[in-house]
Amino acid sequence: MLSKTRNIPYWWLDAPRPPEQPQDQPASVDVAIVGAGFTGLNTALVVARAGVSVAVFESGQLGEGASTRNGGMIGPSFHKLGIDGLRAKYGLDRTNDIIRESIGFVDYLDTFLKTEGIAAGFERNGRFRGALRPKHYDDMQRQLESLQKACGLEGFMVPQKDQAVETGSQRFFGGVVYTTDGGLHPAKYHDGLVARVNKAGALILPHTPVENIDRAAWGYVISTPKGKTRATHVAICTNGYTTRPFAGLRRRVLPLRSAMIATAPIDPTLMCRFMPKNRIYGDSRRMVAYYRPSPDGKRILFGGRATGIRDEPTRNAAQLRTSMIEIYPELRDVPIENVWSGLVAYTFDHAPHIGQREGLYYAMGYCGSGVARSSYFGNKLGHKILGNAEGVTAFDDLGFDSKPLYTGNPWFMPALLTWHRIADRWGL
Ligand SMILES: Cc1cc2nc3c(=O)[nH]c(=O)nc-3n(C[C@H](O)[C@H](O)[C@H](O)COP(=O)(O)OP(=O)(O)OC[C@H]3O[C@@H](n4cnc5c(N)ncnc54)[C@H](O)[C@@H]3O)c2cc1C
Repeated sequence: MLSKTRNIPYWWLDAPRPPEQPQDQPASVDVAIVGAGFTGLNTALVVARAGVSVAVFESGQLGEGASTRNGGMIGPSFHKLGIDGLRAKYGLDRTNDIIRESIGFVDYLDTFLKTEGIAAGFERNGRFRGALRPKHYDDMQRQLESLQKACGLEGFMVPQKDQAVETGSQRFFGGVVYTTDGGLHPAKYHDGLVARVNKAGALILPHTPVENIDRAAWGYVISTPKGKTRATHVAICTNGYTTRPFAGLRRRVLPLRSAMIATAPIDPTLMCRFMPKNRIYGDSRRMVAYYRPSPDGKRILFGGRATGIRDEPTRNAAQLRTSMIEIYPELRDVPIENVWSGLVAYTFDHAPHIGQREGLYYAMGYCGSGVARSSYFGNKLGHKILGNAEGVTAFDDLGFDSKPLYTGNPWFMPALLTWHRIADRWGL
């Protein structure tokens, strides 16, 4: 079933990476942005539209990072600590602000795409999250009730006896539906952003890795293999790809590999049974699994955490296929046509972070749920650089901490993820 699997994101098949024009690296700009994913491009758009000169430096091709490789699944991405955990850490008022702002991420992106006229196929059909143990169903119910009380989140519980309306999988003990979540085509969204950033006058420089940033009296000097650029302000938007030149940020994020597979076309009757409402899907396992129909409704795109940090397509495809067949055993004989992966960034406090560190602006640490978050944070970061009041967020100054001795190499993660895999299997 894996013999013909190609190592290329499914999304790139109908949104191939665009041709690139050779660009000269400018001698100076007002704002230099490192990383041309959703964060960097949204930041660039705000700043360039204010009439400020901008260059976006990108190590790889356009869409090299996670932004064109993700599942395109969008929700508010509530903090893993839950409301009680957030209240204990940040107090009642700050927690309410964080929750309220998080609820707004999806609406923000929806409005942005409509206003910009970006045709990324965004559909808000909701998300079904299945409970793999009866206890998980009770936990989901408690979480839904507390979110509804805190911020009126729209959703409802689906008991096991009724779940055929939501999913053809027999694996679940019921689940929860979040009605305002949705899915889009991430590479089309990225292409739309690149076009708008170019039109706004910003320069995007693919294949131009930033190797060093030196402080100068009037700002910074950015060094790449192609030359040097002077910049008054610098924004680091590298998320899971944050490397050595940004050591202070690198030691604050944990890069993890997330991988996906795309099946061959599936019998339409089965598709209709598996995903009758065309929602996006997930379940309650620790290892994180997310799945959805392809935008044409013919295939299943199934994703999850890879155990290793290096890209191991064959191993990732085999592991994801096993997970998928646990949910949909009928897919045992369906070939897997594509496998791909990318890096996401976790943080030690499970929160995304935005702000300024040692003079450099940054937004990162979306903990695997970054499509809406990076768009919103990128916009806020642009306003922060411009000194606008709109740049203020409830996530400012949360305290972006590292751990002693951690320098950015998460050598312990494979062992931790293997433990999560075992714990899922034994229901621990
Ligand atoms: C397989 C997968 C599935 C996912 N699924 C979902 C999902 O369904 N829903 C969701 O909300 N989120 C999902 N995510 C997460 C989401 O894609 C990311 O959080 C989001 O794209 C982060 O955007 P970004 O712009 O911050 O980072 P990226 O898009 O990763 O961009 C960072 C860029 O920085 C560049 N860079 C790094 N160092 C340098 C340097 N020194 N010089 C120049 N450039 C540099 C990199 O090349 C990269 O292109 C998924 C991620 C992956 C990998």
